[in-house]
Amino acid sequence: MKYSSLAKIYDALESTSKRLEKTYMISVLLKDTHEDDIDQIILLLQGRVFPLWDETKLGVSERLVIKAITTATGTPGEKIEKEWKSIGDLGRVAEKLVEKKSQATLFSKDLTVKKVFDNIKTLAGIEGQGSVDHKVKMIAELLSSAKPIEARYVVRTVLEDLRVGVGTGSIRDAIVWAYFGDQAKINYDDEKKSIDPENREEYKRLVDSVQRAFDLKADFGEVARLIMKDGEKAFEELALSAGKPVNVMLYQKAKGMEDAFERVGTPAALEYKYDGFRMEIHKDKKDGKITIYTRRMEDVSKQFPEVVGFVKDYVEADSFILDGEAVGFNPKTSKYLPFQSISQRIRRKYDIDKMAKEFPVELNVFDVLFLNGKDMLNVPYKERRAEIKRIVKAKPKELVVARQIVTSDINEAGEFYEEALAASQEGVMVKNLDGVYQPGSRVGFGVKVKPVMESLDLVVVGGEWGTGKRSGWITSLVLACRKGDDFLEIGRVGTGLKELPEEGLSFGEVTELLKSLIEEQKGRDVKIKPSVILEINFEEIQKSPSYSSGYALRFPRVIRLRDDKGLKDVSDLGLVEELYFTQRAR
Ligand code: AMP
Repeated sequence: MKYSSLAKIYDALESTSKRLEKTYMISVLLKDTHEDDIDQIILLLQGRVFPLWDETKLGVSERLVIKAITTATGTPGEKIEKEWKSIGDLGRVAEKLVEKKSQATLFSKDLTVKKVFDNIKTLAGIEGQGSVDHKVKMIAELLSSAKPIEARYVVRTVLEDLRVGVGTGSIRDAIVWAYFGDQAKINYDDEKKSIDPENREEYKRLVDSVQRAFDLKADFGEVARLIMKDGEKAFEELALSAGKPVNVMLYQKAKGMEDAFERVGTPAALEYKYDGFRMEIHKDKKDGKITIYTRRMEDVSKQFPEVVGFVKDYVEADSFILDGEAVGFNPKTSKYLPFQSISQRIRRKYDIDKMAKEFPVELNVFDVLFLNGKDMLNVPYKERRAEIKRIVKAKPKELVVARQIVTSDINEAGEFYEEALAASQEGVMVKNLDGVYQPGSRVGFGVKVKPVMESLDLVVVGGEWGTGKRSGWITSLVLACRKGDDFLEIGRVGTGLKELPEEGLSFGEVTELLKSLIEEQKGRDVKIKPSVILEINFEEIQKSPSYSSGYALRFPRVIRLRDDKGLKDVSDLGLVEELYFTQRAR
C-alpha cells in the first residue's frame, strides 16, 4: 500500500472529532487492506510501530528530527526552530518545508507503508557510536521521498505523537464493521460516513468478542489478522499464554465499606490496597523464563532482577501468569514506603543492583490468571486464591501472598481498613469470592475503598499555550496556594477541563478569563496575575522540590471555577501541610 493513501486517511481522521465518522473511515481502510499489511496499518493508525505490550521506545528527540528535516530539505536548523515555535507542531513544519522544496524539484519516489514502517521501526534498535547520524539518515531518507502531507505524519509518528485522535474503541468497532459486516447486517451510508447494524445483538456480541481478544492480546493488529484468516474461529484461538502480557483487571471505587459490601456481596475477601505498583509476572514453560510486566504492559524484568529471583525461588509451578503489587519498604525499619519512593526504579537503566538494595520491594501476589497450562480467568476468586497459596512459599519482605481476611462483619472490615492505613497502604480492596478475572475492565468483582481527599481552592499563576488541537488555549495551568499575601506553586493541571464548552468548564472559557491577566510570555509559557480560582481535587499530596510550596498534587483535576471566592479564600499552605500529614496515619 502507498503511504500516501494512509496519509490521506490520517488527514481525514484529524479533520473530524466525530467518533462514528472516524470509525467508518478506519473500517473502509481495513476492508481495503491485505492480510500481509494489516498489522502495520493497525499499528500505524495508532501512531505506533510496536504493539501496546512492547515497551520499546523509538528514542527520537525533536532536535534529531530537526536535523533530519535540514538534511532532507536543506533548511537551516534555526529557521526550522523558528517555524516550530510559531506553528507548535514539527509535523506541520516538515510539511511546509517539504512543500517548498518539492516546488523546486521535479519528482520523488513513492513511499510505501512498508518502507515507512520498516525505517521507523529500525530507529529503536540503533544504539552506540554514530547512532544520531544513523537515525537522522533513516528519517531524512523518508522525508526526501515524502510528499508534504506524508512528511507531516512521518515526523509525528517518529516523535510518537500522531494526534489524529484514534482511540482503541474506534479500532475495535471498525474491525467488526470491516470483517463481520454481513453477519451483523451492517448498512453503510457513504454520504453520512456512518453505519447502522440491523442485527444489534449480533453486533454487540461481536464487539465484545473483539474487545476480549484485544484484552488478552493487547494488539489489535494480531486480532485483526487472525480474524481475516479464520473469522470467528480466531476468538477460540486467542487463548492465554505465558510470556505475552494481558491487560490487568481494574477495580471500581466504592463510597465506603457498606457500599463495598453491597456491591460485591458477603462474605467478601478484603485485602490491603498496596501503595506500590502493579506487576504481572509470567513464567514460560518452554524455557522457564520469568518476565515482569507493568500495568501498562512494559517489560521491567531487567529493572527488578531480585524479584525475578524471588519468583524463581518461591513460586513452584511450571508456567503461570501472576498478578500482584510490588511495595517499597525501608530496609532499616522494614516499614512500607509510598509508591513515590520506588517509582524511580521503573525506568532505571544502570546501577540496578545498588538500587535494589537501597529501595527494596516486597512482591504481594493477589491473583493468578494462568497456571500450568490452564486458563484460570473463569475460575472463582476463592479457588484462584487457594491455588496461589498452594504454589507460593512465602518469605516476608521478598515475596508473599497478599494479606487477606474473609468477613461479612462491617466492624471487622472497618478494623482491617484502619490497619491497612496504619501500615501506610492506600486503603483496602473488597473482592467477590466467586468473581472471575476480566482483563482490562472495571467489572465490579472487586472494589476499592480509600479515603476521599479534600479538595483545595487554588489560584492560576501560569500556563502554557497549547499546540495542535489545543492551540489557542492556555493549557497545563500552574496552580498556587497562599502563604500570607504570597502565592506558592503547587502543581500543574490540565485534567478536568473540557475541549467542548457544552461538556462543562472548558479550556476556551478559562483561556478567555486568563488572557487579560498575562504578565509575561516566554515561548509558549505564560505567567499569569493571580485572580482565577479553581477548585481542584486530587488523590494525594506529595512532598516535591519542583514547586515553591514544597508540595505537589498527585492526579490533580479541575472540579469547577470558584468565581464566588476571592484571593483571601485561596487555600493556604497551612491547610496543605495539615492534609499532607493527616492523609495517612503513618
Ligand atoms: P486504582 O489504580 O486506584 O484503580 O486501583 C487499582 C490498583 O490497585 C491496581 O492496579 C493495583 O495496582 C493496586 N492494588 C493494590 N493492592 C491490590 C490488591 N490487593 N488487589 C488488587 N489490586 C491491588
